[in-house]
Amino acid sequence: MDCIFCKIIDGEIPAVKVLDEELVIAFMDINPSSKGHMLVVPKRHAENIFEIPESDLAATIKAVKICAKAVKEVLNAEGITVLQLNGKASDQIVPHFHIHIIPRWENDGLPVSTWEMKKGDMKEIQEIARKVKEYIPSGS
Ligand code: AMP
Ligand code: ZN
Repeated sequence: MDCIFCKIIDGEIPAVKVLDEELVIAFMDINPSSKGHMLVVPKRHAENIFEIPESDLAATIKAVKICAKAVKEVLNAEGITVLQLNGKASDQIVPHFHIHIIPRWENDGLPVSTWEMKKGDMKEIQEIARKVKEYIPSGS
């Protein structure tokens, strides 16, 4: 399979690793949005949140917490954005599940998470919530 993150996991191409566990690795993003930007990646290939097994997801988010804490301390970050994209429409570029850790500082001007907030249509909001609740299996 021609997956760049699988190649990093297999050691075929280099990466600046910060964590290497049984199920998960983390390495620095080579196009950092901010100083310390890194990616946490399950070793088993899964394209997105819909495909990743729960056990890999749990291991990945656990590693995110460890890495976020470490980079926050090391760089004295004032905040950390944790970001995960699914599908082209969401701007996912690499089709191997990964979670971004992006250190933040007050007024750093990063466009991440500064989307416009506008008042929603409460009828529509409630209708969507009703359908979603109906779809979610009971006991979840
Ligand atoms: P996205 O799929 O949009 O969530 O983002 C993919 C991320 O992977 C981007 O931030 C890229 O800079 C990063 N990236 C792509 N190739 C590499 C690589 N070989 N080593 C480290 N980071 C990479
Ligand atoms: Zn892969």
